[in-house]
Amino acid sequence: MIRHVEPANKKTANADADLDLMHVVMLGGGACGMSAALELARHGMRATVLEREPRVGGLCGTHERDGFRFDFGGHRFITQSNTIASLVDELVGDDLLERKRQSVILNGGNRYKYPLELDDVLRQYGARRGGRALFSYARAALAQRLRSAPDRTFQDWVTNRFGADLYGTFFGPYTEKLWGIAPETISADWAAQRISIPSLADVALRLCGLARPFARTYARRYRYPRLGIGQIFERCATAIERYGSTVRTGADVLGLAMSGRRVRAVRYRDANGEKEIACDAVISSLSLPRFARMLGGLPSSVERHADRLRFRAIRLLNVLLEGPPISANTWMYVSEPDYLMARIQEPIHRSPDMAPAGATSLMLEIPCTVGDATWCASERDIYERCVRDLVRLGLPDLRPRTRSYFSSYVPEGYPIYHLGYDDDRRALLGHVAQYEGAITCGRQGAFRYIFMDTAMEMGIEAARAVMAGRDATRIAELGNGATLHEGKALTA
Ligand SMILES: Cc1cc2nc3c(=O)[nH]c(=O)nc-3n(C[C@H](O)[C@H](O)[C@H](O)COP(=O)(O)OP(=O)(O)OC[C@H]3O[C@@H](n4cnc5c(N)ncnc54)[C@H](O)[C@@H]3O)c2cc1C
Repeated sequence: MIRHVEPANKKTANADADLDLMHVVMLGGGACGMSAALELARHGMRATVLEREPRVGGLCGTHERDGFRFDFGGHRFITQSNTIASLVDELVGDDLLERKRQSVILNGGNRYKYPLELDDVLRQYGARRGGRALFSYARAALAQRLRSAPDRTFQDWVTNRFGADLYGTFFGPYTEKLWGIAPETISADWAAQRISIPSLADVALRLCGLARPFARTYARRYRYPRLGIGQIFERCATAIERYGSTVRTGADVLGLAMSGRRVRAVRYRDANGEKEIACDAVISSLSLPRFARMLGGLPSSVERHADRLRFRAIRLLNVLLEGPPISANTWMYVSEPDYLMARIQEPIHRSPDMAPAGATSLMLEIPCTVGDATWCASERDIYERCVRDLVRLGLPDLRPRTRSYFSSYVPEGYPIYHLGYDDDRRALLGHVAQYEGAITCGRQGAFRYIFMDTAMEMGIEAARAVMAGRDATRIAELGNGATLHEGKALTA
């Protein structure tokens, strides 16, 4: 449970001038940075959040256009942490909806339920192909029993648990499209953290009502704030400021001023120019390579590791539409590579307030790389291509119903788990650990494929480590987000 501690020294004005309190600067105002700042502020510390974008929330932000609201990729709030559930309840409990998700995979002209259900797959596959898929699974399961080597690649992990047939139909093509690299070059860690369906055997057990505890993927119910996922962090900003601390948006962190191996100040630029703000410690959720370089003194051996850590970007095409919902699904996965989008989201299925009355919207998630042809394509080209793809997928032609459309861009959407990535991230975490008053955490800062609840937990733990003067090196390893009990998930 979050403790409701009144600040020892409540400050409401001219906080910058109060140099008597410990001052901690959060680099980045996403789920991690905002949670860290709130934890510090409510314990009487002086916290300053510096966020580059015009809004807080980071990947968990929500933006508004003509009465429509869009997240940066639809988010659902699920957690098994009582601390995080209570915190979210405290911030947006009055506006927290409980939703039931419905999602499908569009593939080969069929619609498969997602998460995969064995009877549904076999029914749509037909007897011959279904038999082939089961045979390929049985062969892989047997082979896995006979050999003891751990899975090395994404392809190994999935094939050993689902067979080559389901891998080739669903998991392989989707993964290649999402990451832009071959699944044989992606670490098995990503499958373990992202797929969270243990194996085809577990899918079959679920069919017989004998399933093990719910995996995150199987959680059908989730919580969602009425005004979008960003509402959590907008409320968080209000709370931080109420405690007398500061949230600065439009503040681009440029670098750090050091005193030996201690961070002394943060340099940033806002609308009024460049500034420096003194601090006792920083909690960074900027990307790990960026932060490690800001600390300086990166030896060339570590620089090589930094070069190898890369992110997959996402371009989101947001389409504002007249009329009723396009489908009953919260989201639809599009696994085949010849369609541009990987996921189609319809935000009103998360909250009716995501679109004005009588209207709806679609948010199409298009994986890409910063600077590539998709990232740089004109709005019109992307829209026309997506409209054509949707029609080919059996969805209605959006053109007669489109009010307008625009893209939003996420340069650091997914940390890429290339083979050997963990050695690279550990080398950088080791470099950061040599500095005093410098903590790196969050999705980009830990370079881990984590969900928002883990990012929030990391922020809170980082704040507690600073306050207690504790070692913070394990924070980047917190939680694995793999399994989840649905019952617990809804205790918020
Ligand atoms: C498409 C998509 C869907 C997702 N869906 C879910 C979901 O359904 N449920 C779930 O729990 N999680 C989901 N996640 C994961 C979730 O978004 C992240 O785990 C969480 O938002 C990470 O928070 P963070 O604070 O660590 O990182 P971020 O949100 O990335 O925050 C980092 C912040 O740093 C800021 N920043 C960067 N550089 C600078 C700079 N130089 N100066 C100042 N500020 C800077 C950024 O603008 C950003 O606000 C999803 C992620 C994606 C990409």
